[in-house]
Order: sequence, then C-alpha cells, then structure tokens
Amino acid sequence: MALAHPSGQSEPGSSEVSVNPLYTRVPVQISKNDLPARGLDPELAYQIVHDELMLDGNARLNLATFVTTWMEPQADRLMAECFDKNMIDKDEYPRTADLEARCVRMLAGLWHAPDALNAPGCSTTGSSEACMLAGLALKRRWKHRGGTGTPNIVMGANVQVCWEKFANYWDVEMRLVPMEGDRLHLSAEEAVARCDENTIGVVAVLGSTFDGSYEPVADICAALDQLQASSGLDIPVHVDGASGAMIAPFCDPHLVWDFRLPRVSSINTSGHKYGLVYPGVGWVIWRDERALPEDLVFRVNYLGGNMPTFALNFSRPGSQVVTQYYNFLRLGFDGYRRVQHACRHVATWLSAEIAALGPFQLLTRGDELPVFAFTVAGDQPFSVFDVSTAMRAEGWLIPAYTFPANRTDLSALRIVVRNGFSEDLAGLMLDNLKRVLGTLAKQDHPRHGPAAASFAHGA
Ligand SMILES: *Cc1c(COP(=O)(O)O)cnc(C)c1O
Repeated sequence: MALAHPSGQSEPGSSEVSVNPLYTRVPVQISKNDLPARGLDPELAYQIVHDELMLDGNARLNLATFVTTWMEPQADRLMAECFDKNMIDKDEYPRTADLEARCVRMLAGLWHAPDALNAPGCSTTGSSEACMLAGLALKRRWKHRGGTGTPNIVMGANVQVCWEKFANYWDVEMRLVPMEGDRLHLSAEEAVARCDENTIGVVAVLGSTFDGSYEPVADICAALDQLQASSGLDIPVHVDGASGAMIAPFCDPHLVWDFRLPRVSSINTSGHKYGLVYPGVGWVIWRDERALPEDLVFRVNYLGGNMPTFALNFSRPGSQVVTQYYNFLRLGFDGYRRVQHACRHVATWLSAEIAALGPFQLLTRGDELPVFAFTVAGDQPFSVFDVSTAMRAEGWLIPAYTFPANRTDLSALRIVVRNGFSEDLAGLMLDNLKRVLGTLAKQDHPRHGPAAASFAHGA
C-alpha cells in the first residue's frame, strides 16, 4: 500500500499508484490514423475506447432504429460464450449448427410452411442478405423457366434500400410503384399492371419502413392468381417481413400473409428486429424445395452427412443464432405475443397522445407494426425537421424524412417502439416533446428543411 505524504504528494517512487492511476497515464496523443508503433496496457486501451464511445447516442433512446437494443442478462452471457464459434464450421460446432436448423423449423412452422420440418431456410447477417438470397432464388427460377430478356422485379417505391441494392448488384430491372395520394405502399392493381414474362417476382413488404403499414399481401397474391388465369404468367411473391414477420404471427394471427397463400414462395425476417436479438442475424425460409433452385445450394460434408448452404458470407459469429434459439426457448409463442402486444400497446397509446397535442397529424397509428409516422399539420412555424433537431438536443433520436415518389411533398417523423421502450419512458418522451413544442411554437418560421435529415431508412 502506498502512503500519501501529509503534503498530499505521493511518496517518491510510488507515482504509479495514485488516486486514479488510469487517467494519469492516458497519453496526450492517441493514434487515430496510423497503427501506433507501440501498444498500451489493456485496461488503459479499454478505458480510452470506452470513454470515446460515451459520446455515441444512447441506443435505448434511439426511436429511429428497428434493431434490438436490450436483451436479458442471460442472453448477454450466451452471446459472450459464443463469439468465438464460427457459424460456418458446422463440423466443429455441430450443436450450434443444430440450433440454427431448429430456428429454421420453428420459423417455417410459425409462417405456416406446408411441410415445416423440411422447408429450406438459413440464418444470415440480417434481412439484407436474406433478401439478396431470396431475390437470387427468384431470378434463377425465372432463368430455369426459360427467361431470356432483362429480368425485372416489381415492388413499391417504399421498399427498403436492400431491394435497390439487389436490383443493382444482380442486374435486375427495378419496377417501382410510386405512392399516390393517401396510398403510401404497394397495391395489388399497381403491382400486377407492371408484371410481364420477365418479372422474376413481386416483393410485398410487411410492414413498410416509412410508416409501419402492412402491404396487402393476400390481395397482391389474388391479383396475381387472376393474372395467371388470364395470361398463364405464374409470378411468385416474396414477403419482406423484416419486422412484420415477427409481429403479425403474434398480434394478428388471423391476417393471412404467409405460406398459407400458395403464391408466397419465400419470407425473410430480421432476427435482430422483432426477433429480439442484438444486431447480426436474419432469416430466410422458402416454402419448399421447389422454391429454392438446387443449383444455388452448395453442399459441404458435415459429420458424414451433407450440409447444404446458401449464403453470401462465409465466416460469422455463432452468438446471434444461439441467442435467437435462447429467445425462442425462453419466451415461446406466448412470451413473444406478450412482448409484441406490449409494444403495440405503447405505440397506439403514444400515437393517440401525440395526435391530441394539436400540431401533428398521424399517417399511421402503430396498430400494424408498432411503428407510426406523423406530419406537422397545417400552418405551423416549425417543420418536422425542427422537431427532430430539437428532440435530439434532449437526447431522443426521432428521425424526420421525406417520402419517395410521388409523395416527395410529404415529410414525416417516425417512432419505432421496441421491447424496452416502456409506457413510462414513452411518457417521459412525451413530456419532453411538449416542452420542445412550447419553444418551437414561438419561432417565426420553420428553420430546418430535408437537408437536416441524416438517417438510414429501416435500419
Ligand atoms: C430493416 C429492413 C431491411 C434490412 O434489414 P437488415 O436486417 O437491417 O439488413 C429490409 N427490409 C425491411 C422492410 C426492413 O425493415
């Protein structure tokens, strides 16, 4: 033990052991661009990195993201136990591989695949990779049907950016259906009107990242059934259920949007959104083996058997898949139902409170995805971008953004309610919003325009 001199100075030779030894050793210059020539002690390096990250936003107060920001301590523990397991080493880690296969079967069952035990599917890094795989399967099926022209894919202008990436990266023409008036997502008539013999598929989104609304999957399928009856064209549907495929089964069990519709050939979801796992996991399931062309699947030897894989990535940590299984086991259907109902309750309560404030008009109420969007109504001296900026100063991240064609005139704020955003926190947010409005109402005119918007859609 080092004794302090009565003068307050440390004893000579004990300068290493001062009151807060870490911060007395932090170098003045921390390397930012060049690999430092020499290293630091681990606790010092940890503290430097940890401290810098304090300046990031608080993930729990981020009402922009769909991605999970809270898991149970037991899940945190499992995550840490599995960081070092590589998902692709199915030979080395057969139990992890089996947990993945169990999750696939559970999801296939949840989404009513006709033969859930044998529906092909896999985990991915997220919905983006899942959508790439589903899109590639559609494209290959079109090719096998004898497609020779330029393939096209039909979807609403509100699709998440991953579909624009898919079309761009794999040379597929994007046929985007614009929004029109109060129709802020895809409709059956508009989708069918753009289909021809080179359409590889129609993408229906459950739910739209712009406003949380569900697209009419059953209507789209029915319209495509009619198209087939009249023209012979048999066009499959992919459901992008990044969020909704883990909401609708629990909150809207009677809504028919999944493999109960014979035309739905694949479905994806983000395990890290309403699947309630930290970022890094998505899922894609095909209705049956015919929906996933065999020549896209690679077979690797696995414990004497054959392990089929279809993925863009190779190495990936096992943690997210393991904790997805943990959540399924821990919560079960009833647990997910309760969590998602709680989110919907907070979303519909909060949207009603915001509507009652006066200056806002709801575009959605949070009764499909627990997500709602609202605009500034009438002639107010502030814009949605002013509200977003002012709330950011209070610590809340509430994005404001402009809608796509043909509603680029419309700008809105959006709130995503996730597990962990309690009614109590929502109430605190509302109090904050009321205070902010008091100040904004005194402005002469709106200050911030769309240039102030800086967030990635549907992340
Ligand atoms: C979030 C989202 C995606 C992309 O998912 P990631 O898991 O972030 O890759 C795709 N589609 C929709 C509808 C989404 O909401």
